[in-house]
Amino acid sequence: MQKQSIQTITSNLLNSTGCNELPIDVNKIASYLNVTIYAIELPEDISGILDVRTEPIILINKEHVLPRQRFSIAHELGHYQFHHLLGIIHVDKKSYYRNIKSTQGLDIIEIEANQFAANLLMPEDLIRNELEKYEDFIDMDEDIVAIMAAKFNVSVTAMGFRIHNLGYSWP
Ligand SMILES: [Zn+2]
Repeated sequence: MQKQSIQTITSNLLNSTGCNELPIDVNKIASYLNVTIYAIELPEDISGILDVRTEPIILINKEHVLPRQRFSIAHELGHYQFHHLLGIIHVDKKSYYRNIKSTQGLDIIEIEANQFAANLLMPEDLIRNELEKYEDFIDMDEDIVAIMAAKFNVSVTAMGFRIHNLGYSWP
């Protein structure tokens, strides 16, 4: 799965569902894909579960803050789009981004699910539109990243990575 094709897929999904306003309505996209979301009690270290034994279901940890729940839903939708034939139940533990930062990294399906989630919740054109409002945005300004994170309803960490990956500088 190439990065470009992930972007094409998420962009088509956003267009098909009419999701062009912030924050992106990830529940609407799930429902468009006929995936049911349940926010339930899960062990603290479990972020999300994709269960495709019968009807596709995503379980997310209701104790986690909303930006994290939204990212978990998008991440599991990524698995649903690309990997659900690899297993019937997929369980995601811990913070995806914490794992990415480690030198070992993650296996390819986790990277792809993260790229899908980042592209879905933080579309490149919307990020660039928002950042253009800050004429003096040169280096990664923590206040601006926090404002952007709030606008997109994602974590500050996820937003920081996204902006960085789009080629903006990082102190
Ligand atoms: Zn995963």
